[in-house]
Amino acid sequence: MDFNPNNLVRPNIRALEPYSCARDEFKGMAAHVFLDANENPYNDPINRYPDPLQEKLKERLAPIKNVRPSQIFLGNGSDEAIDLVYRIFCNPGKDNVVAIAPTYGMYKVCADINDVEYRSVPLSEDWQLDTKALLDACDAKTKVIWICSPNNPTGNDFPRETIHEVLTKFTGIVVVDEAYCDFSANLPFRNIIDNYPNLIVLNTFSKAWASAAIRLGMAFASEEIIALFNKVKYPYNVNLLTQEKALAVLDDFVHVEGWLTQIMREREHVLPALQELPIVLKVFPTDANFVLVRVTDANRIYRYLIEQGIVVRNRHRVQLCQDCLRITIGTRQENNELLGALRFYK
Ligand SMILES: *Cc1c(COP(=O)(O)O)cnc(C)c1O
Repeated sequence: MDFNPNNLVRPNIRALEPYSCARDEFKGMAAHVFLDANENPYNDPINRYPDPLQEKLKERLAPIKNVRPSQIFLGNGSDEAIDLVYRIFCNPGKDNVVAIAPTYGMYKVCADINDVEYRSVPLSEDWQLDTKALLDACDAKTKVIWICSPNNPTGNDFPRETIHEVLTKFTGIVVVDEAYCDFSANLPFRNIIDNYPNLIVLNTFSKAWASAAIRLGMAFASEEIIALFNKVKYPYNVNLLTQEKALAVLDDFVHVEGWLTQIMREREHVLPALQELPIVLKVFPTDANFVLVRVTDANRIYRYLIEQGIVVRNRHRVQLCQDCLRITIGTRQENNELLGALRFYK
């Protein structure tokens, strides 16, 4: 495919002269006196600005994610990457994006903030993606298609061929948000970014990697697209404490893997138990660490659970999700508490 992301970039971004910070202009260990960044010499180590490109962390992540360091962008949660996609590619008041519905709410919020038209194409009753409808919703002003897989809040993965078809037929950017890919048996899309120069894949430290508090999201794409992210992002967008904590999480990866196994095991325990409850009308198949269930009366059951001190996500008001609750898989004890409460519901 003859694809150059720079042809899709907003003219002001193409012309942008990015801010050059002190740590861009001088890198390396060769110096021992740093008088270039107006830092305070006391209070080591947090007195110094952090690495603006998080190179050490990217070196560690690259083999784990099976990409090259130059194909990684790190941000303040995936939400930063989502917002940057709009700011790099979408002209406010002119361009549009296309997404499925229901899906993750931040794509629409960021579209609204950036004054970009957001077109949503409903999934089928069993949450399948109609590629023809998705592509038909696009026109010459469509810059981006958003696909979340496994999808939040429905929980299901889309077949890989479906996403391949969109990547092949759409001439703009396709973002595949794989925040939940570690819970899925499907192969992740980040490993084929070399084949698709229009593909951006999102991953996060917040879910399977159990580190939502440090706010660290990842985007994987061609070097050209990553260079655009780096041009537009805040100079020091990932702070030192987050970079250090992320390295510590990766050093202790056996824990992450153990938690993941435990959550997958619990999912096998919770799904059939929910299915047996008379108030549960449907348990939708899931490839994530949560499950969407249709119940007899979502609002009432939601309030009842709150009274029991148990919070789930009420998705009743979301398009196509009438009477649906989204339930995260917790520990064995938490899951049993939820199931016990639901068995007592009248
Ligand atoms: C939770 C979630 C994320 C993660 O967002 P962070 O900002 O990285 O915490 C991204 N995408 C989807 C679909 C999610 O559900």
